[in-house]
Amino acid sequence: KDFRNNVRPNWCPGCGDFSVQAAIQRALAELGKEPEECAVISGIGCSGRISGYINSYGFHTIHGRSLPVAQGVKLANRDLTVIASGGDGDGFGIGLNHFMHAARRNMDITYITMDNQIYGLTKGQTSPTSAHGFKNPKSTPEGNIENSLIPTQVALAAGAGFVAQSFSSDIKQMTEIVKAAIAHKGFSLVNVYSPCVTYNKVNTYDWYKENLTNLDEVEGYDPTNRIQAITTITEKRGLVKGIIYRNEEIKAYEDLIPGYREQAIVHHDITLSAEDFLKSMKEFA
Ligand code: SF4
Repeated sequence: KDFRNNVRPNWCPGCGDFSVQAAIQRALAELGKEPEECAVISGIGCSGRISGYINSYGFHTIHGRSLPVAQGVKLANRDLTVIASGGDGDGFGIGLNHFMHAARRNMDITYITMDNQIYGLTKGQTSPTSAHGFKNPKSTPEGNIENSLIPTQVALAAGAGFVAQSFSSDIKQMTEIVKAAIAHKGFSLVNVYSPCVTYNKVNTYDWYKENLTNLDEVEGYDPTNRIQAITTITEKRGLVKGIIYRNEEIKAYEDLIPGYREQAIVHHDITLSAEDFLKSMKEFA
């Protein structure tokens, strides 16, 4: 099972997105998936390129819209493992409404976001996750006057049953988190702090190493405890890595629809005879 293809990524050397790509490929392989059983759907931004770099079905969609497309793919074929991906601008700016509705709807898909706290592709503007006061000489030399959004907090508030966060320099933990997210039956979020080495000179690999708390090392941390998860995220301003919350009791959207599997489009016989095809075309004309 090889989820690598022969497309060479054109991310900048050192970009955190390389690790995300590798973690997804490893997780799918270690879960015993086949490329034709998986689909990776991406939005726009540097992160959006990832669907072209993984050997599976893929769709590079439009800005902020990877989640609606991913849900459509899952509706059409429940048997596919569906991964949606996005960036912090793509997913938490223009795509924020889709994020909240996907979390509450709870279809069995995994959303992996590459959060570098900046718009990388358009050369360094502040994004929804840029910290208050964040300075970038080109776009916000006086500092960001807005408050930042904490994606994991939004996911928890919207009712997601699996919320996790990771960091690009810890590919081992990220792979395990992605595996757990894919195995979760329902919507799962893995927000990855994925440094933009070219435009974000504040939130660097070293900065994250100094500021992230590893939940795996917090004594007594219990990801099934929702109150503890919300309190921890609030106190740490989102700066943690590990599985923040998981609830395996919530039923996925698909499991609430009787006969859903049989009704999925992929199981319909849509073959037409030549005669019926011509008849349909004439009616259409
Ligand atoms: Fe990565 Fe930033 Fe380069 Fe985009 S601009 S590829 S996010 S390092």
